[in-house]
Amino acid sequence: MATLASDGDREARAATRSCGTCSLCCSVLRVDELKKPAGADCRHQLGDRGCGIYPRRPEICRAYQCLWRQGGLEDDERPDATGGIVDLESNGIGVRLGIRMRRFEDFDSSPALRAIAERYRNEMPIRLSDIDDVMNPDRPFRVLLPEGIEQRVIGDRVEVYRDGVRVDVKTMMWAERWARRFSIWWRNRGLQ
Ligand code: SF4
Ligand code: SF4
Repeated sequence: MATLASDGDREARAATRSCGTCSLCCSVLRVDELKKPAGADCRHQLGDRGCGIYPRRPEICRAYQCLWRQGGLEDDERPDATGGIVDLESNGIGVRLGIRMRRFEDFDSSPALRAIAERYRNEMPIRLSDIDDVMNPDRPFRVLLPEGIEQRVIGDRVEVYRDGVRVDVKTMMWAERWARRFSIWWRNRGLQ
């Protein structure tokens, strides 16, 4: 597959794709109409039988499409097969690839997710997190960068790895941490 920036076949692939038995994003989306916070399972999820209110599901459920559904990944990389939802996200200064898994550890046990990350890490940062990260600013996350560089963030501690070997430990800048807390509070205030 071409790089994400130059992939002219994405629309054609998207036209052939449907969610099928996948409902992974139902646990990630915030759905105001149902008072469902982001990062929590939806009471209408029926496992591999999809959505219990599909014909009258809220607008956000109709509108959201992960990168696979948009044709941006290979046919066999649907989130219920890989174990992670992949999205293009803004990081304030550009675009990154977000991979969100049900459990933080799932990335290391998923060859498919690791292949996606390796395919794109020279093109843009890859941010790895779990579903709870949507609501909890203290959840750990990882950022994969070119040339084998990786940041592992736990609270305000940032461990820097090169080719799997830890080479530095830093403290996250307070402004960055505050901005993340504020953005999560802002997203959630409609449900409080
Ligand atoms: S994660 Fe993607 S493929 Fe799965 S249900 Fe959501 S939009 Fe569809
Ligand atoms: S209403 Fe249906 S589509 Fe929307 S989050 Fe719930 S289960 Fe998913």
